[in-house]
Formats: sequence, structure tokens, C-alpha cells
Amino acid sequence: MTTILVTGGAGFIGSNFIHYLIQKHPTWKILNLDKLTYAGNLENLKGVEDWPRYLFIKGDICDPEVVNPLIRESDYVVNFAAETHVDRAIKHAGSFVLTDVYGTWVLLEALRHSPRTTRFIQVSTDEVYGTVDMGSSSEEDPIAPRNPYSASKAGADRLAYSYFTTYALPIIVTRASNNYGPRQYPEKIIPLFVTNAIKDLSLPLYGNGLQVRDWLHVDDHCYAIDLLLTKGIPGDTYNIGGGNEIQNIELTKMVLNIMEKPKSLIRHVTDRLGHDRRYSLSTKKLQRLGWKPLVNFNDGLRSTIRWYEKNLDWWQKVKSDN
Ligand code: NAD
Repeated sequence: MTTILVTGGAGFIGSNFIHYLIQKHPTWKILNLDKLTYAGNLENLKGVEDWPRYLFIKGDICDPEVVNPLIRESDYVVNFAAETHVDRAIKHAGSFVLTDVYGTWVLLEALRHSPRTTRFIQVSTDEVYGTVDMGSSSEEDPIAPRNPYSASKAGADRLAYSYFTTYALPIIVTRASNNYGPRQYPEKIIPLFVTNAIKDLSLPLYGNGLQVRDWLHVDDHCYAIDLLLTKGIPGDTYNIGGGNEIQNIELTKMVLNIMEKPKSLIRHVTDRLGHDRRYSLSTKKLQRLGWKPLVNFNDGLRSTIRWYEKNLDWWQKVKSDN
């Protein structure tokens, strides 16, 4: 039986990936290793807990005693576990360095002693390229991270690559753009703004709102990672982007329009320190493997908003008003 270890599987993308795997590969055994930080939520796995081939393990990727036996029994490993919020990294970078860099190292060391594992995917981010004034980043471009989150992710990204070049381990690095969809912790822009708007609270928009992000539906991200497990080439890096570059101010207006809420809810606040102006990905390399994003941004945004409208219980338990 194929066994896959998903780290960070109680978070936003990891939990969506587990739901995706159960649909797509019902015969696989799924191991979910998650520390359950503030961002991890077992409610994200409702309906999955009773699946006969699913096992949740509460633990830290920094702990080799937990990690080593799990990796040894896994054919595939996908490392989603990370500290992920830039604003938190700006205030307290230590946990980012620890989990994102050191934790990845612990996983990679375990991989060295796991002959069974044929693919290890290190989930990185478009933020490692740093701000991109013109054109789009391709995988060969130099990385230039500019905040403690993206710098920690870049450390893990290159550490993973070094374990391919040094030990010939079957490692792939993915760099995805901003994800959106159900079950995202309501500190990131879309769930924060949607949940604020539901409560008629203001939407705190950084600076002039002209920062550009590319939006990728989480299902399209899951689909890309699944494809790369079998079609990706070890040692290669793959960008994963939705092709939906939008200024934050435009995104905010789209959310308010769909929700039929007034623009007066927008509240401009002091810009984030070192705020990257734009990220942009070329996804030609992934498209050559047959992938293309399937979710139209307007439809995806509408269904995401509906999800937060329907699942008040889920976010009201974890949300602080800001
Ligand atoms: P998230 O913050 O929603 O979830 C992170 C999960 O990791 C949580 O369940 C948390 O409990 C767990 N975790 C944290 N530290 C851990 C540790 N030491 N050991 C075990 N588990 C731990 O994050 P997300 O948005 O789902 O992102 C998942 C991955 O994708 C991250 O690596 C992130 O850098 C990357 N990524 C995210 C985006 C995005 O837009 N969300 C875009 C590109 C890449």
C-alpha cells in the first residue's frame, strides 16, 4: 500500500490536500504529522478522522524521534509544516527559523535513512524570489527573500535542494503563489476581510493597497503537488501560480462587491514593514507536465466567501477582531 506522510496536515493547505488525497487516491494510507500550533485545527479534518487509512500524529517536525519512524514507513513525504504569517515573522522570527529551517533539516536527515521514500516535496513559496517589479519569476531566477518568513522558507528551499545535490535524494521543491479557499486561518487577507465584512467590521488594508499578488485556488495547488509526486523530476523546482495577478485594493473591492458590502468598510492602515510590492510566477515548466489551473478566480472567490459565510462556527472560535 502506498503511504504518504503529510506534515502540517491540520493547517490550511495541508488539510485541503488530505481531503483531496482521499478523493483521488482512496487506497493510500495517509499519515498526518502536525504540532497543532494556533494555525492547526483538527476541525479542518472533519469527515476524515474515521477514514480507515488515515492516522493523525500530534508532533513536531523538529523532533527526530517522531519524524524518523514516520518517514521510514512513507513512500511519499510532503512538507507543508511551517510558520507562515509574515506579520508574525516580523514580530517574532525565532519560531520561523526553528520550524521552517531546522524542522526541514530534521525531515531531510530522516530521508537519508529511509530507502522506502521515493519522493519528498518541500513546499516553498513565490515569496522567496522577493519583490518583482517587472516580468515573472522563473525557477532559474536568483532568489532574494526580503522578510524573515520568506528568508526562512528560502533557507528550507535551498537546504532541500542541497540534500538532492549532496546525497542524491529524490527531492522536489515547489514555489506556489498566494493560496485561497476554505479553511484558511482568518489572519490572511481573504479570510480576514471576508470574516470582518460578515461582521460589518472595517477591512485593514496595508498602505495604498497597490501590492500585487497572484492568486491560486488551494485545489489547484493540491492538484499540482499530486502531479509532481509522480511526474516531477528529482532536483527540480516548480513554480505553481494561478495566473490571477491582482492589486490588494482591487481584491478588497471584489470581496466587498460579491458580499454586497460598502466600500466605506475599507480602512487604510500603516504599511507592513518591508512590504514586497509584487510577486509574479512563470508556470511554463509545470504546464509542460500537463498542469493548468482549473478554478476561475471569480468563481473560486465566490465559493470561498460562501464557505466562510456558511461556516461561522469554524472561524468564530479562532478569530480575534482586527
Ligand atoms: P498554515 O499556517 O495554515 O498551516 C501550517 C500547519 O503547520 C499548521 O497546521 C501548524 O500546526 C503546522 N505546524 C507548524 N509548526 C509545526 C511543527 N514544528 N511541526 C509540525 N507541524 C507544525 O499554513 P498554510 O497556509 O497551509 O501553508 C502550508 C505550507 O505552504 C507552508 O509551508 C507555507 O509556507 C506554504 N505556502 C503557503 C502559501 C499560502 O498562500 N498559504 C503559498 C505558498 C506556500
